[in-house]
Amino acid sequence: MAYKQTQDYDFDMIVIGAGSGGVRAARISASHGARVAVIEESRPGGTCVIRGCVPKKLLVYGAAFATEFEDAAGFGWDIQGASHDWSKLIAAKDKEIDRLEGIYRTLLKNAGVTLIEGQGVVAGPHEVRVGDQSYTAERILLAVGGWPFLPEIDGLKENAITSNEVLDLKERPQSILIQGAGYIALEFASLLNALGTQVHLVYRADLPLRGFDEDVRHHVTQALADRGIILHPNTEISSVKAKGAQKLVTFADGKALSVDVVMGATGRKPKVAGLGLEDVGVKMAPNGAVMVDEQSQTSVKSIYAVGDVTDRVNLTPVAIGEGHALADTLFGNNPRIMSHDTIASAVFCTPQIASVGLNEAEARKHGDVTIFESRFRAMRNTLSGRQEQTYMKLIVDKKTDLVKGVHMVGPDSAEIMQGIAIAVKMGATKADFDAVVGIHPTAAEEFVTMRSPKA
Ligand code: NDP
Repeated sequence: MAYKQTQDYDFDMIVIGAGSGGVRAARISASHGARVAVIEESRPGGTCVIRGCVPKKLLVYGAAFATEFEDAAGFGWDIQGASHDWSKLIAAKDKEIDRLEGIYRTLLKNAGVTLIEGQGVVAGPHEVRVGDQSYTAERILLAVGGWPFLPEIDGLKENAITSNEVLDLKERPQSILIQGAGYIALEFASLLNALGTQVHLVYRADLPLRGFDEDVRHHVTQALADRGIILHPNTEISSVKAKGAQKLVTFADGKALSVDVVMGATGRKPKVAGLGLEDVGVKMAPNGAVMVDEQSQTSVKSIYAVGDVTDRVNLTPVAIGEGHALADTLFGNNPRIMSHDTIASAVFCTPQIASVGLNEAEARKHGDVTIFESRFRAMRNTLSGRQEQTYMKLIVDKKTDLVKGVHMVGPDSAEIMQGIAIAVKMGATKADFDAVVGIHPTAAEEFVTMRSPKA
């Protein structure tokens, strides 16, 4: 039964933010019969489409040819004089992002959603202002996402770029220092390194990727170093200064380094500045995250929030899932919540990393586990001469035989993990994995042929 629209407000729902979560919530709500407006201050598509996952992945694809060219000789190819034109890649990427933005606009229009361009400010539990204009709605959905965060370091904000700007650099830098060792740092370190930039990765921990499985962290660290990325673990930056066309970075131990570009990849924060949330009493965590219950409802009954602004699991498909579940709940007569359990994710560095479920340390907190792992040089690397190894790991609960975590570092691991994630989400046991016949010869078949537990 279609949602019965209210007549007391301009809209049944106003969504602030036309990113992945907001657009999904708006379209599905409209399909259930709600009158919906979306307010966007920048370009429809949001972080993922305009300045995140999509442009990044296009650059990752562009950079991946470097490995192909290097490996080709072992297979009889003679590739000489291959060169890369960064500005061509950026222009092609920009064209594709323009196309996708157009698709987002069309999707909203075709769904009957009103797009209002400008900055939305919450003026009351049922009111949003855009400039001088006021709009009312029975419900307001905050889907404003996040924004790069840079720590307070002398000269960093003035002299460093973030993932927003790196996508639009006019020239590929000859050298770059990337601060941080999370998803964004590793992805840009890898792709720039592949294209020929000298990359310094500077991070305060002893290993990259806090929160990932320890074996994965060790394996990736070695692989990044082998690929030529210069690692600076346990390193704090004390200042960044402009020195001619270069940036001079001084470390806490007094050493210094000059590079073309400094990029901060030190996390993202909810983009709540200027939204007016304090004034209407929406409760926020100390980092600015809008606090919500499992139905994505905030402390103000008529205001909801989905996606990165809630800082639950900051991934596009999660925001989409939250937005869809909310639309079904509010307008589709189908109350449901989005499950945040067992979400697979990948880091598109080189080699790729993908995981689903628990890491070994987390799994051990829940009980005894058996570890199965495999390290091997992929068949392709035999002829190419590349020494890089693939790493795979299964974490199995000793008592129940349930597969609690699966991790991989190697080519195509994201594509492989998506299928594995279905099995893990369904509650597959190690015996279920063992009962599967592998596809030969592949790397993925290792996941169903691991027989001997790690000692
Ligand atoms: P991450 O949280 O992944 O990593 C942040 C990094 O910055 C860590 O290495 C952290 O170090 C470091 N850091 C944080 N604060 C400081 C500080 N004050 N001084 C020095 N170092 C600091 O953030 P990202 O920016 O890489 O990515 C943001 C989010 O975006 C990710 O968490 C992910 O959810 C999402 N994302 C997902 C992608 C994907 O799915 N492929 C791709 C890109 C982003 P430490 O570990 O020591 O705290």
